[in-house]
Amino acid sequence: MSDNRKKIEFIDLKTQYEKYKDEINSAILNVCSSAQFILGNDVTVLEESLSKFTESKHAISLSSGTDALLLALMAIDIKPGDEVITTPFTFYASSEVIAFLGAKPVFIDIFDDTYNMDYNLIESKINSKTKAIMPISLYGQVADMNMINEIAAKHNIPVVEDACQSFGASYDGRKSCNLSTIGTTSFFPSKPLGCYGDGGALFTNDDKLATKILAMRNHGQTERYMHEYLGINGRLDTIQAAVLNVKLKYFNDELQAREKIGTRYTKLINALGKNIVTPTVKADRTSVYAQYSIRVKNRENVIATLTEHGVPTAIHYPKPLHEQKVFNYLGYKNGDFPVSELVANEIMSLPMSPFLTETDQDYIVEKLNLAVKG
Ligand SMILES: *Cc1c(COP(=O)(O)O)cnc(C)c1O
Repeated sequence: MSDNRKKIEFIDLKTQYEKYKDEINSAILNVCSSAQFILGNDVTVLEESLSKFTESKHAISLSSGTDALLLALMAIDIKPGDEVITTPFTFYASSEVIAFLGAKPVFIDIFDDTYNMDYNLIESKINSKTKAIMPISLYGQVADMNMINEIAAKHNIPVVEDACQSFGASYDGRKSCNLSTIGTTSFFPSKPLGCYGDGGALFTNDDKLATKILAMRNHGQTERYMHEYLGINGRLDTIQAAVLNVKLKYFNDELQAREKIGTRYTKLINALGKNIVTPTVKADRTSVYAQYSIRVKNRENVIATLTEHGVPTAIHYPKPLHEQKVFNYLGYKNGDFPVSELVANEIMSLPMSPFLTETDQDYIVEKLNLAVKG
């Protein structure tokens, strides 16, 4: 960069740490001096706060968002040969866990405005093998859960919301993660609510599922060394819970900042009058802008120009899952999911975090204007 301005971070975790530093440091040191490294008070406090925040009866903290998805599917008995309806435009973990259990991801396409599951396509894929529907609440905006739940209820199929990007988002007056049979989220550092390593959680209002999942996250153990289920080591580290307990106190303020920054981006970018597609957020919901993603025609050039001017970008996601090598065996081909493929070719994410300043945002939009021809 030619000027001596501060480097723009893609996700500014450093400023966040500086702001909460004293509290976070002492929370971590408390765990060390208590020597309670697995479960214990910090984890209990976190789970109570998460349950209160989402108004979900049960909140179970876990080792990652991927493990949350895996345990959700294990709890509803997804087995080899079962089918789970989901979308190919997401982070790989969503379908990875389906295939990991020997079940088959059955893809349907997304809407071209919200990038979430096109629920009109669900019923054509339902058959006797269909054992779950897994919508993804992508980029921080909840999928059309009312419509999806209605179809699922008609066929008596559970719904698992992959809310790894949407913790904190609202939908029809309720919170993401508490909108279906099970909701799962991730506390990966760059997610809207992130810890300082891997972490995740799962939410349900079903007592039986909660009891089973609590056992399954601890090797299927119901009493010490008594194993009733196949499980995993899926517990959240206590140090991570302590970090999250601090960050949760400021989370509503951060959500407000995210909303403000997200809508400001949209206003500024639309005002450029260029061929740039900004995010559509539906009237009955909010986005937590896990990513602020736009669509442009000449993406490689746009990214190159922005990089040249010190604006970091990322692509979420360049290759839909049906075209990933690992899923060749499913027999899909290019052209099967035209909207997912189009979006994968055009999408790119701009720097986003609650601490992005208006000055930096103006700079980013100015360089975007320079980068996008026409
Ligand atoms: C991040 C993410 C996951 C996985 O979460 P981890 O905590 O990284 O395991 C799953 N699905 C989606 C949509 C994600 O964005």
